[in-house]
Order: sequence, then structure tokens, then C-alpha cells
Amino acid sequence: MKRIRAVFVFLVVLVAGLRRKRVAVQKLMLRLKLNKGRHFIRGFTVITATLLLIGLLLTTESVLAFKPNEKGHLGITSDAVRPIERVVGGVRLRFSPQALEEIRKANESTDDLSSGDFFRSEKHFDNEEFFAGTTRLLELKGYIISQITSFSPNGKNARTALGGALHTIQDFYAHTNWVELGHTSIDTQLGRTTIPKPPITTPTSPANDQSTLLPGLTVLTSGYFVTPPYCSAPPGKTRHGVSGLCTNGLNKDEPGRPGYPQARGLAVIASQDFINQILDTPGVAGNDRAIRTLMGI
Ligand SMILES: [Zn+2]
Repeated sequence: MKRIRAVFVFLVVLVAGLRRKRVAVQKLMLRLKLNKGRHFIRGFTVITATLLLIGLLLTTESVLAFKPNEKGHLGITSDAVRPIERVVGGVRLRFSPQALEEIRKANESTDDLSSGDFFRSEKHFDNEEFFAGTTRLLELKGYIISQITSFSPNGKNARTALGGALHTIQDFYAHTNWVELGHTSIDTQLGRTTIPKPPITTPTSPANDQSTLLPGLTVLTSGYFVTPPYCSAPPGKTRHGVSGLCTNGLNKDEPGRPGYPQARGLAVIASQDFINQILDTPGVAGNDRAIRTLMGI
């Protein structure tokens, strides 16, 4: 329901934008209500457009990241978190089921429309936002470490941040051409340093086809996702692709997309790498209280 409500709220805002009227959401909803009965045809048009947009948005949300299911973000997160363990004082420590669930939920909410997170490209490594995305990971890592090593540690805060960070890491492999560049191991820069945003003038696609990469491309890029219906990209750049509208693009979000198995596999390893970075940080490594705080035990 949360998702349906979020879609509706966003939809109303979008309809307002399409009508080129910057009216408040409440005003627009009132107008839609008043139109009902008084202007049937106009109302019918609005309803039809609304239904089409709902369809578009539901489609859009579901294809712009690894899906929030076991094949996508949720399963990747579980696959990454479950095997991680640390032995402290002869005791084997692992993430509790409750902690894993919190991390999965926080990961999923990064694709939430109502908070606007869904359209913040640095959280999904869209639009070549490599600098902003990698800066976000550094900041979240620092925050997580501070939350578990503080005098009053807060594991829930740490896990919420961890879920968001893992989402961004996982999207790196789904939304960039890391796989197409031929890499078979993860990019160890994530969580450790920043990656610059490439110049907007550097082409990554043929001028007449933004759904494919330039043959022989050797630079890192990611798919663009701009302006409804999200099928276009800046000149020379590559689009993300939207299932059913402009399916072909760079994304490897779901089974059937070229490169999906490789992207999913790397996303699991990269998620584990990020968690290991935290657990191996001096001050956390061997720190029973900090590790138990993060793992929810
Ligand atoms: Zn995403």
C-alpha cells in the first residue's frame, strides 16, 4: 500500500507538471474531484491519462533497478549478508535474521517514490553520477562505523544506512558498463575512494543509437534516465532503458537482460566487500560490542 500511495502522490505531481500548472497537490486533487460529473469528457481524459501514467510509473519503478525481489536487491542482499561472520573471543558472530530484514528493507526503500530517493541518480549510479555515488558510499561507511563505535551505539541507524549503501553498490553493476568492459571481479574503489564523473562531451553511444555502447568503448559509463518517459539521453550518451517502452539500454536489472547474471554475481561480492570493509576497520575489527551492534546480536 505504501508503494501504491507513493505512486499516486507522484502521479498527481506529474500530472500537474504535464498540465504546465504548478498547482499544489491538494488543489489538483480537488479540481479532479470537481470536474467529475461537470465535465465528463475532460474528466474521462484525465482518468485515461492517469491510468496510462500509473502503468508507466509502475513499469518505470520496476525496471530502474535490480527488482525488489529475491532475484534482485533483496536476494542479492541476503546472499551477501548471510555468509558473513566474525569470530571474537572464540565465538562465531553472524547477522541476526532481524538485522538482515532491516538491511533488506532499507535497501528496498532506496527505490521509494514517495521519498524521492528513486529519482536521486547518485543513489543508483544513473546518469554517470560516479563522483556523487562514490562520495555517498564513503559518507555512509563513515556514518555506519561511527554509529557502532559510539559511546551510545545505534545498530538500527547503522543497518538502515548499510541497506542504502548496499543498494547503491548493487546498482553500480546493474547500471554501468562494468560488465561490458570485461571485468570479472568487482571495482574495489567503491567504499574506498571516489570515481570522477566523466565529461558530458565524452560519447559512449553511436550518435544514432543510444540503446547500445560505442564499439570498443573503454571508459566507464552508466545509463541515463532523464525526462519522462525516460527513454532519452544527452547527445552521445547511453540510455538506461525502460522495459516495454524502450527496452534496450544499458541496464542489467532483471533476468533476460544481457549481462544480468554477471552483474548480479558481482553485486553480491561487492556488497560483501563493503560490509567487510566496515568490519575490518581498525576500531571495529575484534571489537565485540561494535560487531554485535552492527549484526543485531
Ligand atoms: Zn536503484
